[in-house]
Amino acid sequence: MKLIDGKATANQIREEIAEEVKEIVASGKRAPHLAAVLVGEDGGSITYVNAKISDCKQIGFRSTLIKKDADITEDELLAVVDELNQQDDLDGFIVQLPLPKHINEEKIINAIRADKDVDGFHPENFGRMALGMPTMIPATPLGITELIRRYGIETSGKHCVVIGRSNIVGLPASILMGQNTDTGNATVTLTHSRTQNLKEICLSADIIIAAIGKPGFVKEDMVKEGAVVIDVGTTRVKDATRKSGFRLRGDVDFDAVSPKCSYITPVPGGVGPMTRAGLLQNLMVAYRQKFL
Ligand code: NAP
Repeated sequence: MKLIDGKATANQIREEIAEEVKEIVASGKRAPHLAAVLVGEDGGSITYVNAKISDCKQIGFRSTLIKKDADITEDELLAVVDELNQQDDLDGFIVQLPLPKHINEEKIINAIRADKDVDGFHPENFGRMALGMPTMIPATPLGITELIRRYGIETSGKHCVVIGRSNIVGLPASILMGQNTDTGNATVTLTHSRTQNLKEICLSADIIIAAIGKPGFVKEDMVKEGAVVIDVGTTRVKDATRKSGFRLRGDVDFDAVSPKCSYITPVPGGVGPMTRAGLLQNLMVAYRQKFL
């Protein structure tokens, strides 16, 4: 069994981008610029956004953090998005999800100009991704394909079972795995809560991508010998031994499943850091589309 080290791989990606940014700046061009909009005081969102801003600083991106109170109206948030859309020296921005209940997330995502949508959630970018055209790809599936590429995992002709069909992970991951690319060409089964015989389907998988949000859901008796298991799940579970009071658990019963795998991602330290790196890669795509 080989453990896939998402933390080290993400570090490597950051170093590669930092090198590219150094060259860009040395050539007299301005550094890429990312903005993040944070609405409210959700603990998880604050942590994620701070991490994104700190990544930018580390690799030489310019970054701007825009904080808004949880009671901001939808119209006011749309006005923020509009302003960022117009800002010439800004290459891309994200509005951290989830948003307060009174705001329609879809409306906000759709208002972000596609060429600045570094989350890759806008329908235009999702469509381009689905058609295999150059674009910003949702950061988590992008991170998964980077792990597959960099670990030299064979996907061509393999059976890939994706569990979960969210617009940000399962659905785009299933599309990418089936495309005619170096990290695709798999035969894909996309499964969800209505899927019957999930255990049998998983047992025939060479690659399992689990994105459900149910800790330990994928059990040892669902995985065949030698399978590759990518665990996207990150559920906070109570842990009194931790200062934070919680720890992250994946969707895979790691201790029981890992001895059967050829490759497996841990939680934490697998897909999570790659998602962070994916955003930075997308900002480079947005910047290059504009300048290079
Ligand atoms: P989501 O929107 O919460 O949807 C969960 C999906 O799982 C749905 O498609 C649901 O099916 C499916 N599902 C639920 N119960 C199931 C069951 N018993 N059998 C088969 N499928 C089942 O998913 P998400 O936003 O992709 O998040 C999934 C997990 O990934 C969460 O733990 C989240 O925190 C984590 N995540 C991690 C990262 C990272 O960077 N590591 C990034 C994003 C998300 P239906 O569609 O039928 O309801």
